[in-house]
Amino acid sequence: MGEETSLKKITAHCKEYGFIFPSSEIYDGLAATYDYGPWGVLLKQNIRDFWWKSMVQLHENIVGIDAAIFMHPTTWKASGHVDAFHDPLIDNKDSKKRYRADQLVEMHIEKLQQKIEREVQKARKRFKEAFDEDKFRSESPRVQKYQDEIQQIRQRLHTALQNQDWKDLHALILELEIADPVSGSRNWTEVRQFNLMFSTQLSNIADERGTLYLRPETAQGIFVNFSNVLKTTRQKLPFGIAQVGKAFRNEIVARQFIFRMREFEQMEMQFFVHPGTEMQWFEHWKEERMRWHQVLGFPAEDLQFHTHENLAHYANAAVDIEYRFPFGFKEIEGIHSRTDFDLKQHEQHSGKKLRYYDPDRQEHVLPYVIETSIGLDRTFLAVLSHAYTEETVPDAEGKPTPRTVLKLPAPLAPIKCAILPLVRTDERLTRIAHALFDELKLYTQCHYEEKDTIGRRYRRQDAIGTPYCITVDFQTIEDHTVTIRHRDTLQQERIPLDQVRSAILQKTELQTLLSDFYQHLQDLPAVP
Ligand code: ATP
Repeated sequence: MGEETSLKKITAHCKEYGFIFPSSEIYDGLAATYDYGPWGVLLKQNIRDFWWKSMVQLHENIVGIDAAIFMHPTTWKASGHVDAFHDPLIDNKDSKKRYRADQLVEMHIEKLQQKIEREVQKARKRFKEAFDEDKFRSESPRVQKYQDEIQQIRQRLHTALQNQDWKDLHALILELEIADPVSGSRNWTEVRQFNLMFSTQLSNIADERGTLYLRPETAQGIFVNFSNVLKTTRQKLPFGIAQVGKAFRNEIVARQFIFRMREFEQMEMQFFVHPGTEMQWFEHWKEERMRWHQVLGFPAEDLQFHTHENLAHYANAAVDIEYRFPFGFKEIEGIHSRTDFDLKQHEQHSGKKLRYYDPDRQEHVLPYVIETSIGLDRTFLAVLSHAYTEETVPDAEGKPTPRTVLKLPAPLAPIKCAILPLVRTDERLTRIAHALFDELKLYTQCHYEEKDTIGRRYRRQDAIGTPYCITVDFQTIEDHTVTIRHRDTLQQERIPLDQVRSAILQKTELQTLLSDFYQHLQDLPAVP
């Protein structure tokens, strides 16, 4: 499946089967804004729960909070967002399309990288078994030329962004002869900076003092509550504070479905450590978070680290975990060593001390921070992209038939089990099926359905990723057994009615995923 086709298919599937709808669709929608439907909200809730429990429940030294979206405006002055949370934008005068200027340059760099890969492929074909890729990459004059070019462009881009030198960024775009990807035109406007924060006004204060921002990240709600949490939980360094919540960014170019939205949800954890230990903790969290993604079922080759060379002003190390989305490897989570920047800034702007008293050393410490920041919507998209499968399977008569199935990890599936009486016209079957549904619904999310042929009902459950279907048929009346159908293997087996609950719960409870993750952490080296 081509990249575009695959994202288009996933988007269409999400809409058709009640996972994600375009926001306010009856008014033709709102760009880059989406609503989660009945099954989407359950899947999202399960991913959120898994993250929350992996952080707060599995770690004695991590606690959670839920801070307000609105915060005192000085928060954003202190964090640097008022002065430095911009993107450089540029418009094409012919196509009237707007772009992020730095992304146009990044796209140019990607093209150069593709040229390098093509050189390598050609050489591999030419030299066959004798091909030494490392040697070729370091010695081929063409590859070297492209590498140098990339290096120089990266350096210039970095300097322009650091110094907010939009004139030079504009000059770079012209020098590289970058064309509008849609129209091919090189007729560009100047580069302008654009603050990504949405603002609104407090009703009783009209001027700048009344400006409120919709938080562009959840992290600051954690920093400003540092002392409150410390006092009330009596945590010792190192410890973490976790939070899940909405964040808002006025993205210049928002596309690729729920990958880049203007309203999205973040799951963030700030881990406070003794200064000087931050690099060990950075390595620790990098590894722990990668294992979390692997437990979600993503194959190792679809995940990679991307280490930042150009660091944000507050960071002394940063890495992204990237997932291979249908449109290529892209960031799903960022792990940042934020130094003591945020706490220090808030101390200065608030005049309040944000220190930890270390009883052993008998001194007040301004902790350093390691942040893990993951997008819930991006994780949802990754889980869904991995699960989405088109395949041909035998129908009831053994005839090959196409089906679309979401092979979701069972504990994440919106519906864990569908209960289906074979026919709806026989009250003996529907009565048993209803009783089973009433029993199971106290424990887990199930679904009762009696309309349509059994084959059609199976297909519908496949399309929303239900791992198990229980069919109540005529044999059930005789011997109190039902068939349990497995979504992925299509296998059907008969089990006693009174064993259904334990069979389903054993395989679908979130606890199975948590235990798996916990096992994966056992050989993670302890930070001294
Ligand atoms: P990008 O470079 O893709 O814009 P970022 O580096 O600005 O992302 P962070 O500020 O590190 O992102 O935010 C942490 C996480 O929040 C990201 O890894 C991503 O999963 C999520 N996220 C950020 N911006 C968006 C958005 N506009 N839509 C959906 N998720 C987002």
